[in-house]
Amino acid sequence: MSKVEAAALELKKRNSSVKVEPLCVFVDEKSAEKAVKDADLVVDCLDTLSSKYALNRACIEHKKALVFGSALEEYGMVSVFKPWVSACVECVYPNLSDEGLPTCATAGVLPQLVQLVGSIMAAQAVKQILGQNTLLDTLLFIDLKDASFEKVSLLRNPNCPAHLGLPLSYKNEVTEMCTRNGRRLLMLKLENPPKIEEALTKLSQNSVNAKLVGTQVLSFVDEQGSRFSYTSAGVLLAEISEVYSTIDEAKLVVERVSRMLN
Ligand SMILES: [Zn+2]
Repeated sequence: MSKVEAAALELKKRNSSVKVEPLCVFVDEKSAEKAVKDADLVVDCLDTLSSKYALNRACIEHKKALVFGSALEEYGMVSVFKPWVSACVECVYPNLSDEGLPTCATAGVLPQLVQLVGSIMAAQAVKQILGQNTLLDTLLFIDLKDASFEKVSLLRNPNCPAHLGLPLSYKNEVTEMCTRNGRRLLMLKLENPPKIEEALTKLSQNSVNAKLVGTQVLSFVDEQGSRFSYTSAGVLLAEISEVYSTIDEAKLVVERVSRMLN
C-alpha cells in the first residue's frame, strides 16, 4: 500500500467524517501545481529539497499560504510563508540541491524532534485556518541539543530564484532516504515512468514476479533479497539487501531494476 493510502486510512479511522483524497504523486513542478491550486492551505511535510522548491513555487503562483517544516539531527525549523506577499522558502534557502546535503539517512534525526516539528506545524496549520499569523515570515529554530527555541524574522531576498522566476532544475538521480526495516532505502523517480499495468508487464517480461498492493503500488523482491516498491507516481523505492555493503553497490541495484521499467 502506498504511504498516502495508508495515511488516508489512518485519518478515516481517527475521524470518520473527514473527507480524504489521497494523491499518489511525486511532487515536482507539474504535480505540485495540480495538488495546490484548489487548496485553502498547504502544509509541506516533504523530505527532499527539490520537492520543497516545487511546492513553494506552486504556492507563489497560486497565492497559497504554506506551512513549512524540516527536521535533521537535533535541529528543526518551522515557518509560515505567504510567498506571493513576502518571503518564500527559496528566499531563505536559495540555490541548494539535494545532492551533497545531509539527509536523515546520512546524518540521522532524533524521533522526538520529528514529533515536535510535526506538532508545531499542525498547530500553525490550525492557526492559519483561524486567521492567526503567529509564525508568518518568522523562522522558529528548534535546537534539541541544548533544548532551545529561537525566532528569526525573515525578509524577501532580492536574489531569490523563485521570486526572480528562474527555472528549477531537477535531476533524476538515485537518492538515499531514511532506513527502512534496518536496511538502506533508496529512491529513484523514473524519467519515463510506466503506468502500474505496464510496469507489471515489463517486470514479468524480465522474470520478476511483482504483486499489486492496494491500488497504487507494485511490490517485488529480487534474488538477493532486496525489496522494491514501484508506485503510480513513477517512483521506485528499494530496500537494499545486506549483501550490498556500499552505497555504490546499492545504487547499481536500483539502476538495474530501473532499466527494466524505463
Ligand atoms: Zn523567494
